[in-house]
Amino acid sequence: MIDPRKAIIDERLKEVANIIAVSSGKGGVGKSLIASTLALTLARKGYRAGLFDLDFTSPSTHLILGVKEDITPKEEKGIIPPSIHGLKYMSIIYYSGEYAAPLRGEDISNALIELLAITRWNGLDCLVIDMPPGISDATLDILRLIKRIKFLVVTTPSRLAYETVRKLLNLLKDLRVPVIGVIENMKMKNSDFIRKSVEEAGIAYLGEIPFDRQLEDAIGSVDRLLETELGRKIMEITEKNSQLLVPKQIGH
Ligand code: ADP
Ligand code: MG
Repeated sequence: MIDPRKAIIDERLKEVANIIAVSSGKGGVGKSLIASTLALTLARKGYRAGLFDLDFTSPSTHLILGVKEDITPKEEKGIIPPSIHGLKYMSIIYYSGEYAAPLRGEDISNALIELLAITRWNGLDCLVIDMPPGISDATLDILRLIKRIKFLVVTTPSRLAYETVRKLLNLLKDLRVPVIGVIENMKMKNSDFIRKSVEEAGIAYLGEIPFDRQLEDAIGSVDRLLETELGRKIMEITEKNSQLLVPKQIGH
């Protein structure tokens, strides 16, 4: 059966110029921090930026941004994401609260379709999506439902992390999904294993972010976050990469 909500999803994302999925082969590599910081960086540069937390397994961007619990999206022929620190912000957390989402299999898929279909982003230069880890069903659903999606892939220097990233990159290649590049996060010592592997795969190595002991203390405060080493590196990577810094749309 054709789900009419899928046509609505296209409609909802029609006025979003650039859709960037921050993804990885697994959890705990810094996706949420990088997705949040990237969206904030774009907003500070004057872009109309949005952040969409679609990690059903462990939504966490609300903690990173310090989103007050009493901020709830306005309902008006769908849901209008509230503006938080200059970003349009939407998360599954608005619906699942602080409880672990008691959703499984088909239910996750339905919740995902529902969330994509009800959220009215209107005009945005860039929508950053904090993705669920790895090649889960939710990841495959997002790939199927959001056309024009581009991937920004995060790995750590560990061969174990990269092994899962390699699988993700292969899947994206098979599905012909564009990959902007790979960021190596939590770098602790010199090693060019990741850079070489990424370049051998014909993918852009966007840069490395050192392991930053100050980062944990910046969680919940966007000003401090942007001043961390991670914040500065994301700014640098953004400025160097024309796929992240798309031209601002005129006429708004
Ligand atoms: P993911 O979304 O991939 O699960 P998170 O963004 O939640 O990853 O980060 C996982 C943990 O690693 C967090 O505790 C975060 O503070 C920490 N972390 C991420 N990047 C760095 C870094 N560059 N330096 C130090 N700690 C980091
Ligand atoms: Mg996360």
